[in-house]
Amino acid sequence: MNKQIKKVVIVGGGTAGWISATLLKKVVGVAIDIELVESEAIGTVGVGEATIPPIRLLNNVLGINEAEFLTKTKGTIKLGIQFENWRVQGESYFHSFGAAGKSMAFCHFHHFWQRAQSLGMQTSIWDYDLNYLAAMQGKFAHINSKDNIIELPYAYHFDAGLYAKFLREVSERMGVVRTEGLIEHVEQDKDSGFIQALVLKSGQKIEGDLFIDCSGFKGLLIQQELGTGFDDWSHWLPCDRAVAIPSKSHAHTLPYTRSIAHKAGWQWRIPLQHRNGNGLVYSSHYYSQDQALELLSRNLESDPLADPNFIQFKTGRRRQQWSRNVVAVGLSSGFLEPLESTSIHLIQSAVVRLIHLFPHHGIQTADVNEYNRQSQVEMEQIRDFIILHYHVNERTDSHFWRDLRNMAIPDSLAHKIELFAATGRLFREQNDLFLESSWLQVMLGQGIVPKDYHPIANTVAKEKLFEMLNNIQQIKNEPLSKLPSHDEFLRAYCRRAN
Ligand code: FAD
Repeated sequence: MNKQIKKVVIVGGGTAGWISATLLKKVVGVAIDIELVESEAIGTVGVGEATIPPIRLLNNVLGINEAEFLTKTKGTIKLGIQFENWRVQGESYFHSFGAAGKSMAFCHFHHFWQRAQSLGMQTSIWDYDLNYLAAMQGKFAHINSKDNIIELPYAYHFDAGLYAKFLREVSERMGVVRTEGLIEHVEQDKDSGFIQALVLKSGQKIEGDLFIDCSGFKGLLIQQELGTGFDDWSHWLPCDRAVAIPSKSHAHTLPYTRSIAHKAGWQWRIPLQHRNGNGLVYSSHYYSQDQALELLSRNLESDPLADPNFIQFKTGRRRQQWSRNVVAVGLSSGFLEPLESTSIHLIQSAVVRLIHLFPHHGIQTADVNEYNRQSQVEMEQIRDFIILHYHVNERTDSHFWRDLRNMAIPDSLAHKIELFAATGRLFREQNDLFLESSWLQVMLGQGIVPKDYHPIANTVAKEKLFEMLNNIQQIKNEPLSKLPSHDEFLRAYCRRAN
């Protein structure tokens, strides 16, 4: 157990495997050797194209040039997600990566906006959000303003296969060893249960001190060998299937993801430089595979470019994401809905957590327990945020939406909804990935109208309040005329990388 970690073996070469390899090599790689084993015969899950802003930190740490990255992964800019038909059919709202208004002491901007609404002003909270305004006009550029009222936080859409290839090049340049081969057998220490070696179909044996299981849903080491168990969350997040089909690009490349709700699931539309990524996430309890394929095909809006990819999954998390000398990262560690594009982020944060708790001098139970505790909290917070989208709905057109509206939800989420509905108050839990601005947009977008607002909003006279809101709206709109279209931005920016 207290064996010094000299060699890390990564099982799997999907997004999880290559992010783990690159980040570990970059940060702790001087002290350890890293070998990654993957099997082209098995392949990767082949989806996972939308991200959230912290990915930019990952790329920065890895020293990745953004223009080169966007060029090589056919990437585009993502300013947020447009949710269509989620509250009711025919309506949409936006979850932007920005924030409405400006930061205020003691109570959030939306309380002032709420008061103005009660006094007759008719604006939407998104009228004060530059991300939303730029997204709706299909515009983007980097904004370097000292004033944080003018910010345009963003993430990326990219081709998952090209991203893994890109990271593979980066990590191999840093010295990560890649071995192609099918793992057929795993050797375990009889007494400790620690994994000692992987045995490939070719007979090659790969020994290691610490194993990162990035083998996808099956969890080759964490579940099949160590049997750590699974917390099943499908009673809250019942979608368990997806079908994905790429299609031709449209004339204009949107700088945001579209999430379009259907009778028993939802469809993603992810605009890349060379194509659209499309998929339908659905519950097999309500749709057959044929129905799902027919529904997606009918709603593609451009010609398909490949055969459909059918995927099965179960929402939930591995009970122990670190067990003995195995750390599960990526789909092997659990899966939430792709609804808020959090999976690739969870890979990043798992590796960062592992680096913080890296067992240079041997695996300590205290480190393992802390890793597992933090991982659980992180996933439960994201789980609650995703359930919110489903549960608070007013759709009456299918059992799926009615059942979700009537289900019992986790107490942690029930408390958040109750507090917001009564007082408009939102508090970010410690380390919650989603800030108050995210919770606010989804709460409002799904139709919760708070009964009250903070009394501080009453301290401003009506005229002053209206003037303040008008000014903010004007300030938020000002940069728009100078921004290029998203397509113009991509063309000019990616030209630099060539
Ligand atoms: P995989 O891609 O499945 O890779 C597993 C690897 O293990 C492969 O290289 C395989 O060859 C290897 N392997 C397995 N068994 C063996 C063996 N016996 N021997 C050798 N090698 C083996 N995430 C986002 O952040 N944004 C999104 O928009 C998004 N959309 C998604 C949509 C859907 C429908 C699904 C299901 C997931 C989505 N995700 C998304 C999640 C994202 O796809 C994954 O988190 C990401 O791709 C990481 O996958 P992975 O590397 O863990 O697994």
